[in-house]
Amino acid sequence: MRRTRFLSVLAGALAGALVLGLAASRTQSAPQKFDFYSRGPYHAGVPKPADILGYEPGTFHTTWGNMERVLDAIQRARPERVKREPFGRTVESRERSLFIVSTPENLAKLDAIRAGNEKLADPRGVSQGEIDKLTRELPVTVWLNYSIHGDESASFEAMMQVAYQLVAGDDSLTNRLLKNAVVLINPAHNPDGHERFVTWINAHGQGNPEHWALEQQRSQPWGIGGRRTHYQFDPNRDALAMSQPESRQMSREIRRWRPQVFVDHHGQVASFFFPPTADPTNAALGSSDYKMWVDRFGKGNAAAFDRYGWEYYVRDVFDFHAPEYWDIWPTLQGAIGMTYETDGGGNLAFRRDDETIVTMLDGMSRHFTASLATVETAVRFREERLKGMAAYAHTSCTPGANAPRAYALDAGDDPVRAAALAENLQYAGVEVQWVKQSFTAKGARAVWSEPASKPAPKEGKGLDRAGTPAAAKAAPAEAKFPNGAFVIDLAQPGSRIARALIEEDRSVDSTFARAELAKYERNVHRGRHAPKEEYGFYDITSWALPLSYGVKAYALGSLPGGGVKLADPDPNAPDDAADTLADSAAVGVPFTARVSRVGPLVMHDMKGGIAFDARGTISGGEANTAYVWSCATDGAARLALRLLQEGYKIATAARPLSAGGHEFPRGSFVARVERNPASLHTRIAALAKTSGVAVTAVNTAYTEKGDTGVGSENVVSLKKPSIAVVVDSPVSAEAYGWMWFLFERRLGVRFTAVRADRVGGMELDRYNILIVPDGGPGIATALGAGVAAVKDWVSRGGTLVCLDDAAELPTLASVGLSTCKVVGVPAKPKKDDEEIPDPDSSAAEASRRPQFIPGSVFWATPDPRQWLTWGFAPGRIPVMLQGSTMLTPTKEGATALRFDRTPLTVTGWTWPETERRLAHTAFAVDEPNGDGHVVMITGPILFREYWRNTERLLTNALLYAPALD
Ligand SMILES: [Zn+2]
Repeated sequence: MRRTRFLSVLAGALAGALVLGLAASRTQSAPQKFDFYSRGPYHAGVPKPADILGYEPGTFHTTWGNMERVLDAIQRARPERVKREPFGRTVESRERSLFIVSTPENLAKLDAIRAGNEKLADPRGVSQGEIDKLTRELPVTVWLNYSIHGDESASFEAMMQVAYQLVAGDDSLTNRLLKNAVVLINPAHNPDGHERFVTWINAHGQGNPEHWALEQQRSQPWGIGGRRTHYQFDPNRDALAMSQPESRQMSREIRRWRPQVFVDHHGQVASFFFPPTADPTNAALGSSDYKMWVDRFGKGNAAAFDRYGWEYYVRDVFDFHAPEYWDIWPTLQGAIGMTYETDGGGNLAFRRDDETIVTMLDGMSRHFTASLATVETAVRFREERLKGMAAYAHTSCTPGANAPRAYALDAGDDPVRAAALAENLQYAGVEVQWVKQSFTAKGARAVWSEPASKPAPKEGKGLDRAGTPAAAKAAPAEAKFPNGAFVIDLAQPGSRIARALIEEDRSVDSTFARAELAKYERNVHRGRHAPKEEYGFYDITSWALPLSYGVKAYALGSLPGGGVKLADPDPNAPDDAADTLADSAAVGVPFTARVSRVGPLVMHDMKGGIAFDARGTISGGEANTAYVWSCATDGAARLALRLLQEGYKIATAARPLSAGGHEFPRGSFVARVERNPASLHTRIAALAKTSGVAVTAVNTAYTEKGDTGVGSENVVSLKKPSIAVVVDSPVSAEAYGWMWFLFERRLGVRFTAVRADRVGGMELDRYNILIVPDGGPGIATALGAGVAAVKDWVSRGGTLVCLDDAAELPTLASVGLSTCKVVGVPAKPKKDDEEIPDPDSSAAEASRRPQFIPGSVFWATPDPRQWLTWGFAPGRIPVMLQGSTMLTPTKEGATALRFDRTPLTVTGWTWPETERRLAHTAFAVDEPNGDGHVVMITGPILFREYWRNTERLLTNALLYAPALD
């Protein structure tokens, strides 16, 4: 499934939405009985999956190793129909490969087929005559993707039956399909998650369908559930950030094949779903014929299902909006991408609300049938589908008369961050150029620049905008790029996804918006105990990457000269600029399998030469007095954290610093030679290089100007970070995973994960930072006796960092660690006999929590003197909110970021009340408490690894809170 709220749907609430077959089925006789082996004859000697596994389909869950034995045996028995091509390893080192099925003739010319597909997907320089020839002759390439959510297990099991059918089947239909199609079976998109799930369910499964049975999917222990990847990322949200190795390998392999059809097999709904999808549809698809195609594939599946009398539904709640799913992303590449959701799986059996039982075998049979029906539809419309892909690509390569010709991403003061955005775009399928020299672009329009603002009215009165804000387009002006820029030529196949990711993230159409606002009006007029209508937002409503990366972007009317096209990054190539945690052996067992990398430090041109090089350097050779570096980059924080972790003495300038003839901003770092061992010289050189930091060697403590030099009283010693992270319910495993990935794979920082119920009994004094990544007020219950222990520890000097919904924890009366209040939570619990205010009154509004904000972006104003905001460029900072936790400013501490100026909304959906209620609340607070600190931040600042701009708030807390007031 694509979102968690479907768990509640399982009970059968969808019954009203079911589409019980199309007209065709009404004329048919009794439904056929399903059998995996009814399509024979089959080639003798090809083993059925059960022959290898020793159990019948749907009676056990299959491990990765046993699945490989099945596919190997099928291939060995009929090698002329199968090829396997590996395309990378998962984080846990499972080798991923495509199981490619077609006729011997097609398999002999796969290179030519890929080359032909590439021409259809990128028709620049290809004649119409050649396109016509290719569309006449090429087979259609269909990618069948299985087991993306590892606990939606019917997908994985069905895949082996599909493989058997296509390889062993000698019936006329199978032969015709293979003659006209190359079928790419990806056995599992998320092997690591699937394996965790299988180990768990095979240990408990007995085919008990009761909802509360131990073996049901919802009983999976925290962190063991198979939905997510090794690092607990939802793989079906990562097609936007392409942050995980698994996503990057998928992106590269899909672009190597350029399939025309792509199906992602899921499963945990009450009845089978296949497209057509619901509104809204991503605007970047524009006038493409996507809807016509999903109607065709939908009708093909419907006819196949009607033969068996099976239920299914279309549209309903599965939209096609955020470009983060593995159905939309291939569609933006020119394929027709579709999500299929089956009932059954995630267990062996499940009891519906009408006492009927749905089994994993049911789910397998439906995925099997839909997979084959999809190949059949693709073959039926083969030539038209190939032409459709070429036409889509042609439009993508032709910028409209009023559309920008190019985008430029300013390399700015942190070129590694800009390069990380460029790399994100490359993995999303966008060609990027690097213009090294400084240049000026005339007629450049700033995308997402901070608008002129004024103080928000008192108590937010008069702020009642709603829906999707209109694009406030800045007037074109001259833009200077003194440090170079990454440039995106929009005459390319990836232009639509470039526009979607850089600028056009407002695609909620007006009909959809009106329906949601009507629901809002009805909901706020319903009594406290009346059920509320669920909103139609599937996930986030804004995703503009220049905002999340904090990189300035411009739309240009012409393409700047001097650009060097950057080579496609290879997710499987070793990264010379990464370092391993073995380098940090001082802080634990060497872990050579893990490398960490602040971002792309080196990017190559198309000939393999180095085009972009941001590896760090020490200017001035071996220092006599100190090494100094500015805090204005992500790498700077990484370098400081790594040196501190290894026991080196690092300090920070609490005021602007003058050293070695250079000026450094407040918060910059100093490593004094006198206070460190001689190994500092080589270690800082090595880590500066891999952190992409320009370090200045300073040879005297004397300063020519200013109050603060390297020896000043205002250069304060930092503390070695010793970090513990609270995990287990109600902390979201996903939010923990974002932090885990950041610490382990980008910063190379060690931490200890602790179950919430162990916090009370742990030696807290071994740590100076305790992080709660997420979790709502229930975290206090989960901590239990840990609450008192944490309070004592904070008073003795510990730093408690509470992120996202966990920002509420310190405000709870039972915790008492903050003077902030949560908006909409009355001081005393309501009594049932209390007078109920008029629902339209401000008293009624103030007494309820704000409406859930579905992933939207707002401008927050920093207090530049407060250390949480050090290292940020001047001006307001875009931050993301996803939830309904808003905090009043602190009375006793510092509000480092607050929402106090209008316009407040940058992009994404807002409710009529959102701005009014958000005005004058806090986004980030530091509340000193005894000798310690309590840091509260109300948004998901590490969101899915692409909110790079706000992750700095966390690294600042790690660096500065233990040392500064
Ligand atoms: Zn799913």
